[in-house]
Amino acid sequence: MSYQPIVKHVDNSDNNQEVGLKQLVVTMHDGTQLRLFNNNGKKTINRLLTIPCPICRKDFYCKCFDRFVDVIDEQVPEENWK
Ligand SMILES: [Zn+2]
Repeated sequence: MSYQPIVKHVDNSDNNQEVGLKQLVVTMHDGTQLRLFNNNGKKTINRLLTIPCPICRKDFYCKCFDRFVDVIDEQVPEENWK
């Protein structure tokens, strides 16, 4: 029953070097889209509300993906963070 996050595609979204904040948009194999933040080395995640959450099925904000930050980040090519 546990969700297996598989990254399919990564887009660079925003990079503000002045404040050390970089954002990527990550598309998962199931179509879920996530915004991944790197704020001075601290990584956090937000689900975009394009499709319902594959874990809890809510179509509004939830925190399900918070625990997958590391797993998803491991699949993001290092070059996307440069
Ligand atoms: Zn959820």
